[in-house]
Amino acid sequence: SWGSLSDKPVYDWSSEEEEPDGRARPIQVLLVKDDHTFELDEAALSRILLSAEVRDREVVAISVAGAFRKGKSFLMDFMLRYMYNHASEGWLGVADEPLTGFSWRGGSERETTGIQIWSEVFLVDKPDGTKVAVLLMDTQGTFDSQSTLRDSATVFALSTMISSMQVYNISQNVQEDDLQHLQLFTEYGRLAMEETFLKPFQSMIFLVRDWSFPYEFPYGQEGGMNFLEKRLKISENQHEELQNVRKHIHSCFTNISCFLMPHPGLKVATNPNFDGRIKEIDGEFINNLNVLVPWLLSPENIDVKEINGSKITCRGLLEYFKSMLQATAE
Ligand code: GDP
Ligand code: MG
Repeated sequence: SWGSLSDKPVYDWSSEEEEPDGRARPIQVLLVKDDHTFELDEAALSRILLSAEVRDREVVAISVAGAFRKGKSFLMDFMLRYMYNHASEGWLGVADEPLTGFSWRGGSERETTGIQIWSEVFLVDKPDGTKVAVLLMDTQGTFDSQSTLRDSATVFALSTMISSMQVYNISQNVQEDDLQHLQLFTEYGRLAMEETFLKPFQSMIFLVRDWSFPYEFPYGQEGGMNFLEKRLKISENQHEELQNVRKHIHSCFTNISCFLMPHPGLKVATNPNFDGRIKEIDGEFINNLNVLVPWLLSPENIDVKEINGSKITCRGLLEYFKSMLQATAE
């Protein structure tokens, strides 16, 4: 249960829909249980997506996915800061303000596999004059055994299907495992989609954390693209399996990109009392965060979720989520 997360302040992690203090918080909308069944909290999801201000708005759904303890929630809290500060210049905030939002922390206890959604959907004015609804999702899985790998694949597939942008958060490098996992995830997704929709996935961003070869490929998006191009290159002398993984990934997504992030420094990685204040994070990390977050979330860069080439609203996304969950369960 979420009760044990109380060492980090601010949010009440009970799974009830009510927000007693009215404050926004992460809501566990999909949960994988010990018997490997999936539990959708439809009431909670409906409450978020069908609220009067957002239900008929076109939706931008941004998901961050990957294994536990790789800094996803930490990053998402900065994404929240950017959204709450309306993409302004000083969005990063002051140097000694603790970081809050999705709970992030150290340690290595067991965690839950599933999808969390931030309870507040943000309304953003795009430069073309449209007002869109932006939904932030945190998706987590475990990749350590056959059975959990299968659960995680389904969760990853679902979050890829319902998002317009999937950020695949990985540690240190893009390993062959990461690509194979991705192939498994997207295969699940394609199987489920064949029955109903044909459109491929939208954007996939490989976000490499703790990148330690900046002299080979510099931090950021350009270095990332060059690195990824090399990693995803298909060549004659590759083993057939390696070639297939690459072809499959290319065939699934409309846009594929990559961003290389530096290590945030030892305080972030190892100090149990670290509470997220910027002054204790390496400057190089902050500089790149200042590039990464606007690159992902700025009003001109966000894309509305499309299904079969048509833009959909929050209401449409709810129906789509339910039908995709059903399809993957079959
Ligand atoms: P999540 O399980 O993927 O959501 O990971 P968390 O965001 O909860 O972070 C897990 C731990 O990693 C925390 O102690 C963070 O302080 C730390 N952390 C956050 N970002 C990074 C990073 O980019 N690199 C490293 N090495 N640690 C990080
Ligand atoms: Mg997390």
